[in-house]
Amino acid sequence: MSKVLIIGAGGVGGVVAHKCAQATGVITAITLASRTESKCRAIAAQIEFPVATAQVNADNVPELIALIEREKPKLVINVALPYQDLTIMDACLATGVDYLDTANYEPLDTAKFEYSWQWAYQDRFKEKGLMALLGSGFDPGVTNVYTALAAKKYLDEVHEIDIIDANAGNHGQPFATNFNPEINIREVTAPCRHWENGQWVETAPLATKQNFDFPEGIGPMNIYRMYHEEMESLVKHIPSIKKAQFWMTFSDNYLKHLEVLQNVGMTRIDEVEYNGQKIVPLQFLKAVLPDPGSLGPLTKGRTCIGVIARGIKDGKKKQVYIYNICDHEACYREVKSQAISYTTGVPAVVGAIMMLTAKWRGEGVFNMEQFDPEPFLEKLGSMGLPTVVVDGGEWAELT
Ligand code: NDP
Repeated sequence: MSKVLIIGAGGVGGVVAHKCAQATGVITAITLASRTESKCRAIAAQIEFPVATAQVNADNVPELIALIEREKPKLVINVALPYQDLTIMDACLATGVDYLDTANYEPLDTAKFEYSWQWAYQDRFKEKGLMALLGSGFDPGVTNVYTALAAKKYLDEVHEIDIIDANAGNHGQPFATNFNPEINIREVTAPCRHWENGQWVETAPLATKQNFDFPEGIGPMNIYRMYHEEMESLVKHIPSIKKAQFWMTFSDNYLKHLEVLQNVGMTRIDEVEYNGQKIVPLQFLKAVLPDPGSLGPLTKGRTCIGVIARGIKDGKKKQVYIYNICDHEACYREVKSQAISYTTGVPAVVGAIMMLTAKWRGEGVFNMEQFDPEPFLEKLGSMGLPTVVVDGGEWAELT
């Protein structure tokens, strides 16, 4: 009997609930809890498998402990917001339950993306014989596993990685983000950092641009270099990596809106006084932008997310490109979500399956590249996200 408790009923939480319900051989009971229980009930109503629902404020550790003690899950899947990572980890420690998430902890008042806060739980999880799996989404998540696959199977030494995330879809809205707008805009407007020769190199946000020709008919798109959290764990756990960069596609239209919003102060994350009330402009902006969940039925096109790894094989320079292509409309037909939520939610469930079946097991706090990539990718493919490997080919350095 493996019961899971999912916390967070947004775009990703919906996909996780749908996909847990498909994993009947492993997951036998599901509770979906979030701040607004009506959102949990709406998701549960879409799913034939019984999904129990609950209300919880995941910023409050005693509330979380009471919920976990009542539900008695084997694993907590955290798909609320990064701000809740530490409180949920604390509650898991207090109740003796394993933990999984898809995004690293961020303090509410600084857009600072780093694993230090969660890696600091290593000894406490280890002492209790518990496992925490961090960043089991697509990026971070599958991109870490792709890099581990390159290191295990295709290269003797990985020297450079370029993680490239393309959303070649279109939702037809003037401006909207594909996942939580607050988290998305904090990430995109942060200074860029990439890893080069043993140190982080900081540049202005989105200042470095390339044109990349995506496979399978997607074609050329502009990609922009930015910081992304998986690079921090990858360069720690695969120390042969000398250079790591992360790139994402943005349309000219998205960038135009973002620039204006920044210029007028709407992306600020500090409090401002308005009519005697304190508001955070970015949180207000989130309230007026389209809910990413509402984009599901509108979004057409595909995503292409992957890793180009370059290094040495049998003494020769070699490159491998490992990627997945996912179709927004097919995702919506299957689980009522677009591909951004789908590509995050499916790996979360595959990570959960790896933990519940002990294919991935350890005591302490782990990142995805620390485990065998092959059983994960096999399961990921059968659950809807197949892996394509282009082994060899032209050395395509992105600078
Ligand atoms: P949404 O904003 O759609 O959903 C977040 C959910 O968390 C909402 O149901 C929200 O409740 C709930 N929530 C927020 N605060 C609390 C709280 N204090 N207590 C209980 N519930 C709370 O976000 P997404 O579904 O788009 O994203 C979910 C997570 O996935 C985020 O951490 C995001 O960073 C991560 N992500 C990871 C990716 C990856 O590839 N690794 C890619 C995309 C996202 P309410 O409805 O009441 O606001």
